[in-house]
Amino acid sequence: MNNISRKNFLIKAGSALAVSSFGFPNIITPKKKEKLGVALVGLGNYATNWLAPGLLETEHCELRGIVTGSPEKIPVWQERYGIPDGNVYNYQTMHKVADNDDIDVVYIVLPNHMHAEYSIIGAKAGKHVWCEKPMAMDEAECQAMIDAANKNRVQLTIGYRMQHEPNTQTIIRYGKEQTYGAITKMESGGGFSGNFEEGAWRTFAAKGGGALYDMGVYPINAFRYSSGMEPVAVKGRLTTERTEMFPDVDEAAVFELKFPGGLKAYGECSFAEGMNYLDIECTDGWYNLRPFLSYSGVRGETSSGTQLPPDPAHQQARQMDNDALAIKEGTPPIVPGEDGLADVRIVRAIMKSSDKGEEWVEV
Ligand code: NDP
Repeated sequence: MNNISRKNFLIKAGSALAVSSFGFPNIITPKKKEKLGVALVGLGNYATNWLAPGLLETEHCELRGIVTGSPEKIPVWQERYGIPDGNVYNYQTMHKVADNDDIDVVYIVLPNHMHAEYSIIGAKAGKHVWCEKPMAMDEAECQAMIDAANKNRVQLTIGYRMQHEPNTQTIIRYGKEQTYGAITKMESGGGFSGNFEEGAWRTFAAKGGGALYDMGVYPINAFRYSSGMEPVAVKGRLTTERTEMFPDVDEAAVFELKFPGGLKAYGECSFAEGMNYLDIECTDGWYNLRPFLSYSGVRGETSSGTQLPPDPAHQQARQMDNDALAIKEGTPPIVPGEDGLADVRIVRAIMKSSDKGEEWVEV
């Protein structure tokens, strides 16, 4: 079949079949739906305060279902968002979304150690999967999620909201077009001063806790999207001062990434100290985003005096709309599972380097 007749064939085949020229697997796209139905899985802080309100502002998707292990949350959510009884699930019944045409997407907003299991349940149910960062605990889990999505012909997208943010997209373009010349150095830090309650999942290694998984992925992802390159080696050091609060995870970390051609990136993250910057130096100038990872107010400037003022849009609404549109149109998402896997590979290599006394570890 030549290209033109193939295209005609696809148009005739209608919206059920989508093809990408980027090697992205064919996905099942929902038929003739104005808005895709999203079920939030795990009704914690991020789902409650950012994603659900964001879904009130989206054009291409809306909140239609919930998956929760807390029965007391159900009436509150049902009333606030008009969710019918038939669209309420718990972790044991979540696989039954397979029979629910209202739900097109499950959005996994669970503690990190649960991302893989519930993403795979969603994919097997034939639903598109949006999963929060960090994608999963290790590369094998990430790969299993990617495989499950491919096998079930659904999209798998990671909730890295910064890649949807306009100023971030501008500096990604600066990197691609070498607006300020070739990048010579990158520095970035993400952190906050936090006190966690006893038992909080972010304080346990087995639950994917620690500053590197939680905040370190922001600088790591930023180095990769800013340069458009993948590192060849990394090194780092994980530290904990408040050992009573963080019995077996890092409270902070510093790390270095080495890219092809010798470019270096210097990152840091912390649960003890606020930090929120991305600085890029180039052969012909510099630019930055300060803050670079906030929910709003991301702004930047450049060596030529260009100001990148904050964008007023609801970040999570924009992200979910972009991701819903990718499903509706059958185009690759901005942040596919492979992007999440690349970061988790780097996180794991930094942990290994720290264990080996800050040796360089190839990735
Ligand atoms: P929370 O602890 O506030 O919420 C997690 C929810 O998961 C709980 O409320 C609970 O919901 C459910 N849950 C199920 N099993 C467990 C368990 N064993 N322990 C704890 N909770 C459980 O976490 P966040 O909302 O802050 O984070 C959730 C995910 O979102 C993480 O992966 C995090 O990295 C990511 N995140 C991303 C952000 C971003 O900007 N992209 C920002 C913040 C978080 P229920 O009671 O309904 O079962």
